[in-house]
Parts: sequence; C-alpha cells; structure tokens
Amino acid sequence: LQGERVCILTPNDNRFISCLHAAWLCGAIAVPLSPKHQSTELEYVVKNSRAKVVISTPEFFTVSKKNIDFDHVKVDDLNENPMNSNDTSETFPFLPIEHDNKPSLILYTSGTTGSPKGVLFNHSNLKVQTQSLIKSWEISPSDVLLHVLPLHHIHGLVNGLLTPLSIGAKVVMDPSFHARKVWSHLLDENSTSKSRVNVFMAVPTIYTKLIQYFDKHNMCPEDTRRKCKDIRLMVSGSAALPLPVLEKWKEITGHMLLERYGMTEFGMGITNSYRGIRVPGSVGLPFPHVQAKIAASDEHGNPHYSRYYTYAMFQCYWDNVKATEETFVDGEFSDPRWFKTGDTGVFENGAFRIVGRTSVDIIKSGGYKLSALDIERDLLEHSDITEVSVIGVPDDVWGQKVTAIIALKETSRLNKTELLEWCRSRMASYKVPREFMFVKKIPRNAMGKVNKKNLLKNLVSNEP
Ligand code: ATP
Ligand code: MG
Repeated sequence: LQGERVCILTPNDNRFISCLHAAWLCGAIAVPLSPKHQSTELEYVVKNSRAKVVISTPEFFTVSKKNIDFDHVKVDDLNENPMNSNDTSETFPFLPIEHDNKPSLILYTSGTTGSPKGVLFNHSNLKVQTQSLIKSWEISPSDVLLHVLPLHHIHGLVNGLLTPLSIGAKVVMDPSFHARKVWSHLLDENSTSKSRVNVFMAVPTIYTKLIQYFDKHNMCPEDTRRKCKDIRLMVSGSAALPLPVLEKWKEITGHMLLERYGMTEFGMGITNSYRGIRVPGSVGLPFPHVQAKIAASDEHGNPHYSRYYTYAMFQCYWDNVKATEETFVDGEFSDPRWFKTGDTGVFENGAFRIVGRTSVDIIKSGGYKLSALDIERDLLEHSDITEVSVIGVPDDVWGQKVTAIIALKETSRLNKTELLEWCRSRMASYKVPREFMFVKKIPRNAMGKVNKKNLLKNLVSNEP
C-alpha cells in the first residue's frame, strides 16, 4: 500500500488510532473520514483521494461503491481489544514516524469557502507541528486531554490526538458530544485522580453549548470554578472566539481561554502565550516554527492578508495544481514557502488580530471596509442573541449592505426596531446592520463554521 490512500471511518475511539498506525506502517497515506458526514460527502472524499482501501467499523459501512473502486475492510474484531475503552494512552503508545518525507496524511479543509480541498502532508510536517505545540503549550506525559473534536480535521487530529500521544500523554475520548458529559469530565465528577482531565481543546461553538447548558441547569459558578482549578489549559480555535463567550467562560470556570489561530494547510500558526498575557480578541504571536507577516496593503493602507513561512507547511493540494500554485506567493516553490492565508489580519499592541476571511468577512459598504467579525462581536454583547452571522449583501447604493442573520434565545421577544435602537446606541453608525433577519438556528458545518457564501446564495435566491 506504499503511497496509496487509505480512508479511515471509525467512531472517535482507540480503533481510529489502530487504523491510523496500520495505514502508516504499510507506508500508506491516511485519509480520515467523519462519521458525521452524509454519504455524498464521504463519497466525495473517497473519490477525490482515489482511495484504494476504506477501513471502517461495521456501523459505518455506508460508502457506496457506485462509480468508485476500492476495497472495504471492516474492523469489528478490534472491539475485542482488551482495554476496550476510550482512554487511548496505555495500550497505544504513539509511534511517531518521523524519519522521512514520505506523504502521510490527507486532511480535507472544512469547506467553509467552497468544496473541501485535500491537503497533503508528509511525516516530517506532522512531527514539526506536534513538537511545536508540545513546546508552546508545555504538553507533558502527565497530561490528560479531554478529546471531543472530529478526527478528520487538523484541530482534532493533530492538536488533540497526535500531539499528546506523541509525548505519551493520555487522551480521554468522548465519541459523541454531550454537554453534560463534557461538564462531568471537566468537573472531575467520576474519574479517579489518575485520569483527571487537565487539558481541553475545543471550538467556540462547543464553549457556547457548554455555557448554554450551564445556564439552563442553573449550575453554580463558585462550584464549577472550584472544581476546574486543576485544569491547566483550555484552548479555543478554528473560528473566532466571541468576546462574550471568553468572558462568560472565565466567570464560570475561572479560566481565560487560550485562543490560537491555524489552518489545515500549515497547522497552528499563531498563539496566545501559555504563561504570559492573553489578549482578548487577539491570537497572539507566531509559534516558534512559524514566521508570519501582514502583506499587500490596499489603497487605504489597510493590511490585506497574512503570509506564513513554516516547516510544517503542507506539500500541495491533492490533485489540484492550480490551487497549489495560486496559494504560494509568486509561485515561489522553495521549501519552506510563503503561503497566502486568505485571511485578513492586523498587528496591533504587540499581537496579531484576525479580522476575518478576506473573501467574505471584509464588507465594503458606503466607502468603508468593515470586519464582519467585529460587527458579530458587537451584536453578541446583546444578552438575547445566541448566534449571529454578518454578511455583505450586494446592493446598488451601498456596494454591499451589512446584513445580520440572528438567532435569539427561545424566551426572547426582541423585535427588529428595538434591536436597531440598541445597535445605534452603541455602534458606530456605519457598522450598524442595514438589515436584520431572525432565524431559529444558523447552519454550520462539522467544525461549527458558517459557510457565508451559501448563506448569501440562499438569501439572494429567496428574495422576492
Ligand atoms: P475551506 O478552506 O475549505 O474554505 P476552512 O478555511 O474553514 O475551509 P480550515 O482549514 O479548517 O478550513 O480553517 C482555517 C480557517 O479558520 C482560517 O483560514 C481562519 O479563517 C479560521 N480560523 C481559525 N482559527 C481562527 C481564529 N482563532 N480566529 C479567527 N478565525 C480563525
Ligand atoms: Mg481555508
């Protein structure tokens, strides 16, 4: 199977790790799939990666062989594993395959801006990424990480699993997310001191769900703060962390979340400091293996996008030479390389701040350039608003019209006029949305991200 693609589809438990090792020991390129994906999404990845083999546990034997040719391997006997638990550390010491530049892994991007792209890494790329996280966040063999993230994505796979396992730390995996179970791990309600969780990594929507659970069940902040004392690190990333979430989390757990910024293509890029100051709303400074710079100012001198230079950098987009060429600056192909992130960032007060995706989050309205993320942050200060997504809808007068799609608390009676008044009283006039739309829930992908291009397409096509 040297160089062949092997797709892996298992629940989030130790069987995934066995399959990953098996693929690597055969010299194959592992392609993790997500049990949460629909069959069309699974088929897209199997087909796009031209997988030779799909390994899956029996309940996920769902990928249709229509128009795709691959061998299917079922791993039911791994259920008989003597440990048969989700505590992955003791029977599965991670074997880092560090010695070579052979391709090791294809991870598909989250598909937030288009079809997911296959990102190809070699073993050395992964080694650089895991070592850098270990150093910056002081991960050690005595750590116990609570893992609740999907394994087909850089955050859940490299940060949450390979990094701790590569240094012999323990990982407790929760195959399906339940706020109650996560709280019970964080509060150490039923574990022995040997496996007391002390590191947690999640995306902002998970922190939001945990806060909602906290509120709904009238949990006691003094109690949660006391019980969370032994946790040493809680990380947020993969999308912008709204300030109200950061603040509320601090109030109820005593922990200032460490926000970091990264992308599938180069792993983690910028992080707030583990020991030093963490600046709310900022993502800090580059990891030791990364150089970052803001490049290409526009006519107003506004910084346009960030570039990265790192040894962790992916090799290429799988089967997509055009996308690979476009993303590296001036077709520069020396290694390591400068990579265009497509995100707009600024450097202020000694730290980087992510303003948003250049393609969808920078709204040009009435001569102003506005950050959708900033407006979302402002709106989330309203206690009735649970979710918000701000987009620029094409408009003859404004160029783009700031439009806020909003989900309110179930009990809320807020109307658009009141909300407009509230915005006018606290936001600069050019930032106040021209239009509000109330929805029950904002559609998100498996990583909790909003596909704003789709949202816009639906909005425009639903207009009378
Ligand atoms: P696709 O590339 O398929 O459109 P995607 O870019 O969402 O999807 P990922 O590689 O999972 O796929 O996500 C990387 C992106 O996530 C970054 O480019 C950035 O826009 C966003 N991101 C990650 N961390 C942060 C953060 N802390 N703050 C703001 N944005 C973040
Ligand atoms: Mg991307």
